[in-house]
Amino acid sequence: MAKQKKFIFVTGGVLSSIGKGIASASLGMLMESRGIKVTMVKMDPYLNVDPGTMSPFQHGEVFVLDDGAETDLDLGHYSRFVQNAVFSRKNSFTTGRIYDSVIRRERAGGYLGKTVQVIPHITDEIKRHIDEAAVDADLAIVEVGGTVGDIESLPFLEAIRQLRVERGSENVLFVHLTLVPYIAAAGELKTKPTQHSVKELREIGIQPDILLCRTDRVIPRDVREKIGLFCNVSAEQVFSAIDVSSIYEVPLYFAEEGLDEKVVEKLGIWTSKPDISKWAAMVEKIRKPKQQVTIGIVGKYTDWRDSYKSLAEALVHGGVANDCRVNMLYIDSEELEKGVGRELLDTVDGVLVPGGFGERGIEGKIQAVEYARVNKIPYFGICLGMQLAVIEYARHVAGLKDAHSEEFRPDGRENVIALMESQKGVKDLGGTMRLGAYPCSVLSKTAAGPTKAYTAYKKEQITERHRHRFEVNPRFRGQIEEAGLLVSGHHVHRETGTDLVEMVEIPGHPWFLGCQFHPEFLSKPMVPHPLFAGFIKAATQSGRKGQAKLL
Ligand code: GLN
Repeated sequence: MAKQKKFIFVTGGVLSSIGKGIASASLGMLMESRGIKVTMVKMDPYLNVDPGTMSPFQHGEVFVLDDGAETDLDLGHYSRFVQNAVFSRKNSFTTGRIYDSVIRRERAGGYLGKTVQVIPHITDEIKRHIDEAAVDADLAIVEVGGTVGDIESLPFLEAIRQLRVERGSENVLFVHLTLVPYIAAAGELKTKPTQHSVKELREIGIQPDILLCRTDRVIPRDVREKIGLFCNVSAEQVFSAIDVSSIYEVPLYFAEEGLDEKVVEKLGIWTSKPDISKWAAMVEKIRKPKQQVTIGIVGKYTDWRDSYKSLAEALVHGGVANDCRVNMLYIDSEELEKGVGRELLDTVDGVLVPGGFGERGIEGKIQAVEYARVNKIPYFGICLGMQLAVIEYARHVAGLKDAHSEEFRPDGRENVIALMESQKGVKDLGGTMRLGAYPCSVLSKTAAGPTKAYTAYKKEQITERHRHRFEVNPRFRGQIEEAGLLVSGHHVHRETGTDLVEMVEIPGHPWFLGCQFHPEFLSKPMVPHPLFAGFIKAATQSGRKGQAKLL
């Protein structure tokens, strides 16, 4: 008989933002290091068909996959923690997607005149999506978005309840993440919120097998017993998920607590002990770096924090590659425009302008590019950050005084960044995004020596993920290259044959590189992205006293 596929469903209680994504990803990492073929799935209870159209400020970053799927930022956590799984649009779906496919089928007469209902049609569709995502794996860890008790997540919870009945408790495990707050005034860890949230789960027929209690201290035995008693589990099924300084420590704590051991025992999976020594060594590098640098991230105020999650992580990974702590200093580009905060640039070992949309703060970002170019401070421009580097170079070095982007000056005379000819006139901007993985050819060297791009990648063919509409305009490319900007990566567009610029750099500058793609989506703590590793290395050599100092 074929091996039975196993499922772990992770639900969250009490409130959001207690780390369900990281907890699920950490469990995935531990299961994978036991040699199990793992995949991860995120089900989100909102009606957008995908998060591509949602404000990153509201929902956090949009994480792009190879196949161009625009997914929830938790897919980013999964990608960074789980090494071998390959994620596609199947691994992330929303209520919107489920309803969309049910309604389409209904319109096409697919329900043979039946009344189409939440149970069984929506729940069946959810189960079908889960199975489809899990098809190549032996174990699927499925995170249910939202908080138990929300109206929106009910169909998901009902679907997973049914799955447990259909597939058996030896194949389906329920993990519930809750909060156990320490109330200083009482000097106590409080279990009531957990009791309530589990009560709510049990009311809809789900008895959690494992409780993961987010807390700021180890939960003592007597408190675990109390939680167990009220929640109908043994104290051995109650685990602490303690606050840690680095998210990458979470799997190590879980392993120490015996969480993965309990999970495999409950699912009847026989595995060897996990080998987490390499992961532990990586965490040790984060905990005890030998040096530190400060990177100035120049963006709009509203772009910060969660919308740059992968970027911040990729910088940490770049630090791991160099035994270096990376301090991130957010610099508001709109303030720079007003002449405020320029002195901050004098304190950083590297300047990074990340991806972005919209005109606000653009000139401030261009000032930051100019600062890094002129002062020979390492510069890393990602997507919009590359486009602005090209504009800055065009304006101040190539003599194209009006250089701009068509995104901000639709009628500009010298739009060095523009839509591809083939996309002009296309009204539906949603359709013109270049999304997902595309190959890029890396220029290995010039007469002056190897390029920065090749020094980082050590390969001439790479693949990177994209999420943008505008490109370096071929009309001005020659003039800008003649003025000294080097195109060190390019991609020939399949349909039009247009040669698209993927990477630029300035020869003779210690490290000035822009890329049209988003390398942060491919960086993992165990495999830091070469460009981030190269940028941080250059930052350690910025020569700025007091910043890139030895610890
Ligand atoms: N707004 C720019 C474009 O659409 C850059 C996008 C980005 O930085 N992700 O091309």
